[in-house]
Amino acid sequence: MKKIGLIGGMSWESSQVYYQLINLKVKSLLGRFHSAACVMESVDFAEIEKLQHANDWDALSKVMVNCAKNLENANAEVIVLCTNTMHLCSDDIVKNTTVPFLHIAEATGEEIKKQNIDNVLLLGTKFTMEKDFFKKILLEKFNITTIIPSEKERETVHQIIYNELVHGIINSTSREIYLQIIANGFKRGAQGVILGCTEIPLLIKKSDVNIPIFDTTKIHAESAVTFALK
Ligand code: GLU
Repeated sequence: MKKIGLIGGMSWESSQVYYQLINLKVKSLLGRFHSAACVMESVDFAEIEKLQHANDWDALSKVMVNCAKNLENANAEVIVLCTNTMHLCSDDIVKNTTVPFLHIAEATGEEIKKQNIDNVLLLGTKFTMEKDFFKKILLEKFNITTIIPSEKERETVHQIIYNELVHGIINSTSREIYLQIIANGFKRGAQGVILGCTEIPLLIKKSDVNIPIFDTTKIHAESAVTFALK
């Protein structure tokens, strides 16, 4: 089993889910006393959130590269960045390390393709919904087109992530708001919805919606195990 290196803390509410899902998957595949060989470099999210909202992606890239190097020094054999948004820095991580990097959008694209879906709604932070890094991979590598919510809806989705979900606050009114936004995406032709922020699965479960959902936390965590056991 390869040692999995996790860059976490963004937020820790979802990093703990990664840790749990990775271990559950290893146990389901190997059984008995098995658990994942892994190491996590976990940051202080206050510093990250401040730099994100100041749009200082150069500084953020330096922090991410530094985390990845620490994992490399800890003998990690694969790097998993436990947040969609911070994949904005993934090119710099790849350039500055020699350890394989498992991109969250690639893992998600593979799952979407398995279901023969080619038009999806993307929910996430404004960075993820509005910038190109996630959508471009889906389009160029998998020929999947992406719908994003309206400007007003994007603001709401973003505020709920930063004001509630990263603090572990799960609010039923916010769930209803998300479900309405998903329904609107469905009306516009989305065949499925990407929960493209690793905290959204804390709020929205498969049973809440009747179109396919792509939980990036679960997909990414399980792809790490598949890679580690290959
Ligand atoms: N975990 C989130 C994501 O998947 C949001 C927090 C962050 O900005 O990293 O995008």
